[in-house]
Amino acid sequence: MNKRAAALAVLLAAGNAALVSAQVFQLPTANHALFEPGKEDSFFVGTVGKPWTSGTFGCVRSSGWQMHEGLDIRCQKRDQRSEPMDPVMATADGTVIYFNTRPSLSNYGNYLVVRHQIEGMEIFSLYAHLKEIRPGLKMGQAIKAGETIATMGRTTNTREGISKERAHVHFELNLFLNEHFSSWYKKTFPDQRNDHGDWNGQNLVGLDPRLLLLAQQSQGAKFGLLNFIRGQTELCRVSVRAPHLSWARRFPALVGRNPVAEKEGVAGYEIALNYNGFPFELVPRAASEMKSKNRFQLLSVNAAEHQKNPCRRLVTQKGGRWELASHGLNLLELLTY
Ligand SMILES: [Zn+2]
Repeated sequence: MNKRAAALAVLLAAGNAALVSAQVFQLPTANHALFEPGKEDSFFVGTVGKPWTSGTFGCVRSSGWQMHEGLDIRCQKRDQRSEPMDPVMATADGTVIYFNTRPSLSNYGNYLVVRHQIEGMEIFSLYAHLKEIRPGLKMGQAIKAGETIATMGRTTNTREGISKERAHVHFELNLFLNEHFSSWYKKTFPDQRNDHGDWNGQNLVGLDPRLLLLAQQSQGAKFGLLNFIRGQTELCRVSVRAPHLSWARRFPALVGRNPVAEKEGVAGYEIALNYNGFPFELVPRAASEMKSKNRFQLLSVNAAEHQKNPCRRLVTQKGGRWELASHGLNLLELLTY
């Protein structure tokens, strides 16, 4: 290689490095088959007797009527007893915020949550069914993307357990619905136990990590989390009479402008939800713009999307009319608490 070609090669390598470092989210294990078309079987672990699709994010369980809110990523490394031993790595720079080391308390078994600040938004990654959390790792500890935080396992408190064959890490990317979840839960379900405080699954609303990672892969440096969130498909649009939404305060970039509400004062919000109940677009509304006196009103439903992804049961059809189902109402109660 002549001098100029060598210099060019160095420049190209630097360019590639810049491209790689621009990728905010990384896969949490060495299994990268997600990016190889046709290799889905080597990446996802399906449920017993079901195809790999049942290990993806979405309405993929119980004939499409049960949500799986993460990716089940296949084990690649095993010890002599065939137990999983893949290192589990942080998907992005962040802070260890919670871990559970009493597997009997959760169907997630041993699990760990990392908080990330990305484009001004707080997002949490969750890694479940771990054999072991890295010894010495502490709550509040800062970690780097790609840093090993745990070892893959198959811990869970479910009766059936997870077989060696199906060993995987369950990986989620979530946002907090409400920072006052614990008191909401106590008030709403006074007789039920909440072992995980704000980390109760009901308070976490997930994004599809597969779609996110593929979008990042194809868009490279142009990828943005905010754009990804804004690009969600609408399941329904609701109006809520609640002038103070913690979601709107925490994610101002998802809130559109409305001169009428700016002038007259915000009485509530119009909210677009995806099929998983993710509030991805909010428009402030003035009292004069809100037709209904009800606290919650269903404005529209994307019937095609509901047919495709009905498992959250947020809305339902009664006598040809759409209405908010109890799960939808519950979500709005929590969002507006
Ligand atoms: Zn899972």
